[in-house]
Amino acid sequence: MTRNTVPGSIKVRHRMKIAINGCGIAGPTLAWWLQKYGHEPVLFDQSPALRTGGYVIDFWGTGYDIADKMGLVSSLREDAYFIKKVRAVTASGRTTSSLNTRGFHEITNGRYLSIARSDLSKRIYQACDGIEARFGTSVVNIQDQGDNVTLELSDGSHELFDLVIGADGLHSHIRTLAFGPQEHFETHTGFYVAAFVLPGYYPRDELEYVSHTQPGRQISRVALRDDQTLFLFIFSKRFAPHQPVGEEAEKLLLHQIYENMGWEADAILSRMDEVDQVYFDRVSQIRMPTWAQGRVALVGDAVACASLLAGEGTGLAMTEAYVLAGELHNADGDHATAFQSYQARLQQYLILKQDAALKFAGLFAPENWFWLVVRDVMLNLTSVPILGKKLLASSFQSDLDLPSYGTLLKK
Ligand SMILES: Cc1cc2nc3c(=O)[nH]c(=O)nc-3n(C[C@H](O)[C@H](O)[C@H](O)COP(=O)(O)OP(=O)(O)OC[C@H]3O[C@@H](n4cnc5c(N)ncnc54)[C@H](O)[C@@H]3O)c2cc1C
Repeated sequence: MTRNTVPGSIKVRHRMKIAINGCGIAGPTLAWWLQKYGHEPVLFDQSPALRTGGYVIDFWGTGYDIADKMGLVSSLREDAYFIKKVRAVTASGRTTSSLNTRGFHEITNGRYLSIARSDLSKRIYQACDGIEARFGTSVVNIQDQGDNVTLELSDGSHELFDLVIGADGLHSHIRTLAFGPQEHFETHTGFYVAAFVLPGYYPRDELEYVSHTQPGRQISRVALRDDQTLFLFIFSKRFAPHQPVGEEAEKLLLHQIYENMGWEADAILSRMDEVDQVYFDRVSQIRMPTWAQGRVALVGDAVACASLLAGEGTGLAMTEAYVLAGELHNADGDHATAFQSYQARLQQYLILKQDAALKFAGLFAPENWFWLVVRDVMLNLTSVPILGKKLLASSFQSDLDLPSYGTLLKK
């Protein structure tokens, strides 16, 4: 496997041992770049192994550019799905609007793909050759001594590191330890999301993303390889004043919300009990006034989750990881300066992404029929030449020029 488009690791004056809690998207991306800059990253993840299954994500923008710098694009394209159409249907299955994804590819110059989140994570992780990863072990406590940090690990041991980075997602434990409870930083967008994968579901409508929406609730499906189908549910919190706890309660709630909704909802629900892994979470954003505290910093969803509504959380997580590693390299051991530059470079950009995502929220599950019709009209307009391109371009524009840290590397 080709791993590096950057020269191999270098001798730095201040080689640091850096603990990264979370091996999803941001974690292994950060580890990859830190190793290239001559540091010693160690990955921890509470899962016993790299997470599999889950949902499919759209991947483009700066994340795609960073994957390219890491030499990953050809392997990602092998695992990708090139979805051709996004189609909305009525309760009886009649198509009301449809969006041809050719426009996405034109606007991004072909640098756009859909891929299982777990496949993206796996490809990044596989590239982390020689980097220590401890699955089934996580950081449970941090003692910041000023000159270094002592971490208490879930296996009861204690270990000394120079820095610790929280890459442990929306519900980050490192954030709670260093900055306080999640509710201080979380904004619930007003939606919940659930997803699961089933084998042998028909119809499949290959390479189409098909969805049925009624006010406040949407159900979608997309056919995957090996006869699997992914189902995605997005619904307003008015259907669930309290988040259910535990898989049984989550499945019960999905039954209550979607039963008798029409289209294929009942057929899908009737098979939900076959599944023992349902992804269920609230759709939230994280906004933090400061991204680092002493020798602790955050990256990815842990620091600036934009939510699925942004449609580029993985790319943003990779961007943060790339910039954090680059700033640590630039500052050559001065982590405080590096953490400041990291936040200064990206915070405003991410706030704009988060604000844009909130504006987009109504398109997923509009709260009334009027906005549902408006959404369908908008989807259909994307097929109109010139106008369609303009509409799509506003969603795909990126205002960030990735800094080029690679020039600083010495062999
Ligand atoms: C339904 C859905 C659809 C989405 N669609 C898109 C899309 O189309 N495009 C897109 O780019 N993004 C999309 N996203 C967002 C994207 O998945 C996230 O933004 C991205 O995965 C964030 O990466 P991360 O590495 O920060 O966190 P994660 O990918 O969540 O990884 C966090 C890792 O930390 C580990 N962990 C958690 N807690 C601990 C702990 N206490 N100790 C140790 N390890 C821990 C987890 O096991 C996991 O491996 C979607 C999200 C959802 C939910």
